[in-house]
Amino acid sequence: MKLPAVPEHTPKCKLTIMNAGFCMTKKSHLLKGADKSNVSVPALFFLIEHPVHGNILFDTGYSTRYFEATKAFPFSLMNKITPVKITEKENAISQLLENNLTSKQIQTVILSHLHADHAGGIADFNHSTIYVDKNEWRYGQQSKLKLLWKGYLRQMYEKINLSSLEQLDFEESGHPYGPFGNTIDLLKDGTIILVPFPGHAIGQFGLLLNISNQERYFLIADSAYVRDNYQMNQGGSFLSRLAHYNSSQYESNFPILQQTEIDNPNLVIIPSHDPMMYQQFIGK
Ligand SMILES: [Zn+2]
Repeated sequence: MKLPAVPEHTPKCKLTIMNAGFCMTKKSHLLKGADKSNVSVPALFFLIEHPVHGNILFDTGYSTRYFEATKAFPFSLMNKITPVKITEKENAISQLLENNLTSKQIQTVILSHLHADHAGGIADFNHSTIYVDKNEWRYGQQSKLKLLWKGYLRQMYEKINLSSLEQLDFEESGHPYGPFGNTIDLLKDGTIILVPFPGHAIGQFGLLLNISNQERYFLIADSAYVRDNYQMNQGGSFLSRLAHYNSSQYESNFPILQQTEIDNPNLVIIPSHDPMMYQQFIGK
């Protein structure tokens, strides 16, 4: 699973790892066999500053809109099952403002999939071009009730301006990148390679960020909840398996991620909900 070398002339991006909100659950939910202690699960999102293409977000985390969307039954069940903690100033848009970036200065938002903890803040970015997998977008147009049981709150993304939406078609326009088939080199300069990992959601994908041969990241979103999933080849609890679009397909990605990590010692693989990643990159 060795990745191609990063060419010398690749534009140099800068990555900032951020977090918007937490949900409360038990460790054993994320990793079968782990203890049943409570854990705060982060919802990471990522700012990529590209020297030519400007500011790019990968996901948005939760937002305080979650509380509005889950006020009434049956949507309130979601907040019962996975209680969320987030304040206004933790919303992605507020944190970016603190870094002197307004929503107008975010040219692009890439959504790994449409779950509430990834697309939660998307309504704040109505000046951006928004990329979503084509199958994911179609799936996300079902009834709110049907989607609820699969972790989607359509209220979060239904106001996306369709003229700013770009649907990614990995089958039609995908190309192999090293060991991965059907990837999309989003900016056509080798910096951002989108790699489909369906299973957790029908159109879930990861983002490979090539800065240099010494610095490259694989932001895998929910291709695994925590590193232990793929390092131990172990999925989550029975309940967590129900939430996946196709849990066997989800788990079939683990050996690929494990081997990718082994074969690329300089690659930092970051699952979006790993409490250890939060500790390492953000936490005090
Ligand atoms: Zn998800």
